[in-house]
Amino acid sequence: MTTVSELIPISRPILSPNAKNLVSRCIEEGWISGDGKYVKAFEESYCKLVNRKFAVAVSNGSNALVVALKALGIGPGDEVIVPAFTIISCAAAVVQLGAVPVFCDCDVRDWNLKVDDVSGLITERTRAVIAAHTYGLSVEMERLGELLDSRGIYLIEDAAEAHCLSRFDRPCGSFGIISTFSFYANKLITTGEGGMVLTDDEHLAQKCRSLRNLCFGESDRFVHEELGWNFRMSNLQAALGLAQLEICTDIAARKRAIGEQYQTLLSHCRSLQLPLDCIPAAKNGYWVFAVLCLDDTVNVEELSGKFRDRGIEVRRLFHPLHRQPVLNRMGYGNDQSLPNSEYIRARGLCLPAGPDLCNRDLEHVARTVLELVS
Ligand SMILES: *Cc1c(COP(=O)(O)O)cnc(C)c1O
Repeated sequence: MTTVSELIPISRPILSPNAKNLVSRCIEEGWISGDGKYVKAFEESYCKLVNRKFAVAVSNGSNALVVALKALGIGPGDEVIVPAFTIISCAAAVVQLGAVPVFCDCDVRDWNLKVDDVSGLITERTRAVIAAHTYGLSVEMERLGELLDSRGIYLIEDAAEAHCLSRFDRPCGSFGIISTFSFYANKLITTGEGGMVLTDDEHLAQKCRSLRNLCFGESDRFVHEELGWNFRMSNLQAALGLAQLEICTDIAARKRAIGEQYQTLLSHCRSLQLPLDCIPAAKNGYWVFAVLCLDDTVNVEELSGKFRDRGIEVRRLFHPLHRQPVLNRMGYGNDQSLPNSEYIRARGLCLPAGPDLCNRDLEHVARTVLELVS
């Protein structure tokens, strides 16, 4: 019999020593669905972490975007500018609400929304911009905020890849009228599945709370003035989240150390473009460590297979949203050319960088990269 040796995974979460304890307590107390005390406590702790007044915990990061957009009143006839180089959730949330996603290219060095390109995409229908921080480097929120404020356009901050990250010492998640997080298992803070919507606007927070919970009536619970949906986070998930908050600083430090170590081991490789180690606003948090292969003849799909054969799980980068078949069929993004997003997609690979990656495995990955790429 042959044993299949386990791949070095792209990411695996580390769970807090207090996770079992808090989740067990939740089970013993018997309140396991939404609206429980751990949900409230998780929301309060999260407000402190990102310096926001109000937090509404939801079922995942994709739904957090839906709730945020819906609370802002975005719907049919509206346009929302989204990054081309990000997860489908940003466009899917816009489309779900009947609005039109408009794709903006990314910067070729930090892979974030190119703020200079945003003005050219604004029309009289533009209601909001979703700015999603990418892989551990943040979008220029100050400049983007100024641009949008002067035009009365909402800024939504998708901080799903930016837990424990700051810009000039201001926490990511505190920018824009509303911000969102994901707590999926590969994110820096996890609840298994989960998400959060944050704002400083009480009225908006109230709307999000209502939307999350089917818009139950205020005076008579079963009389609905608005349509909401069930976007609730369970008390069990929130209990896990509270435990994870206790170790998030350590996880962030480990992620940063992994990034630094890769930078050191791979810096002399001329056929690779490494991620920026810092931008003026902050050091890279290295939620993901992705490299670009500069050799035009390399096929990254084939290259991924070679890593797998050597026991290493790698992953390709986001397929640009303006090239998504499903969105093209709806009439979005056709014939658009966003060269930076396309360039990065064609050349990029994410290396294993989970918080539990040990130095021995990291060195093995780096050696394999040098062997396969240079
Ligand atoms: C992960 C992620 C999401 C989606 O979060 P889920 O919890 O998986 O739904 C949204 N936006 C960005 C930028 C993400 O990285």
